Amino acid sequence: MEPANLPALEELGHGITAIDTGYVRPFFDASHLVVENGRAAFVDVGTGHSVSGLLAALEAKGLPPGAVDYVIVTHVHLDHAGGAGEMMRRLPQARLVVHPRGARHMVDPSKLWAGASAVFGEEFVLRSYGAPVPVEASRIVEAKDGFTLELGGRPLRFLDTPGHARHHFCVWDESSRSMFTGDTFGLSYRELASARGAFILPTTTPVQFEPEALLASIDRLVAHAPAAMLLTHYSRVVEVERMADDLRRQTRELVALGRAEDDKPDRAARLRRGVEELFLGWVRDHGTPLAEESARELLAVDVELNSQGLEVWLDRGRVVP
Ligand SMILES: [Zn+2]
Repeated sequence: MEPANLPALEELGHGITAIDTGYVRPFFDASHLVVENGRAAFVDVGTGHSVSGLLAALEAKGLPPGAVDYVIVTHVHLDHAGGAGEMMRRLPQARLVVHPRGARHMVDPSKLWAGASAVFGEEFVLRSYGAPVPVEASRIVEAKDGFTLELGGRPLRFLDTPGHARHHFCVWDESSRSMFTGDTFGLSYRELASARGAFILPTTTPVQFEPEALLASIDRLVAHAPAAMLLTHYSRVVEVERMADDLRRQTRELVALGRAEDDKPDRAARLRRGVEELFLGWVRDHGTPLAEESARELLAVDVELNSQGLEVWLDRGRVVP
């Protein structure tokens, strides 16, 4: 019998399963489970509230907690790594693989939670992400650019991919020719797909959006000629070249918007309006058969976060070294 809390699972072939972490809405936030020769790794783990569902998915695959060798977080934002501490507590054999810039935040997650609380309020953060759980430093593997680990003999290679965040890596799985992209290759909400295919959107959320680095990272991912990109929001997309072109154009449009509004006194409001206009325009151009009001609602949080992230980027550019 399947456990009652089994989340939505999608088998992607090559031993990869997409698991819905249950964060925000269905098919918003994915964890990917990779299994090779009976050994397992999770790539991104959602929030503290996602843990029981992820463990149920593992059990549904016929694997005990001791089969998990690695918990991999593409970056330490809380919708990707918020559940990492609790996962590590429940997976006795696992090591946590994280970008060198994110490692200390896994050992002492209080600053991550404090940062999120400053933006969203403490009660909201605890409700959304669960309580911070530290990870023992001895169980952490810091993956520098080019680092490769073997999962049951299957190589997974780590690429430093700044642009969305400086603590972000992507993971290349040669055997499926898939790239686990976290947030570096943007967001693809399924509700926004059309006859043209999946819709894609870059994410410029606070506080480390760097457009030049993001464009370079996208080029680097595409240079692997992946058969598929596996996004955290949400899972597999296959039209890699077309979507990379979309992301490049959209990123440049967001940057142009930011520069145009930078010196205006009501910059925040103008940016919010401008980002929303751009987003809804892209959705319209994509031929998405969704009422504009529904698209507006669906993207409301992204409009807010992306315009805030643009502001942080603009202000960073203003600091004289
Ligand atoms: Zn992120």
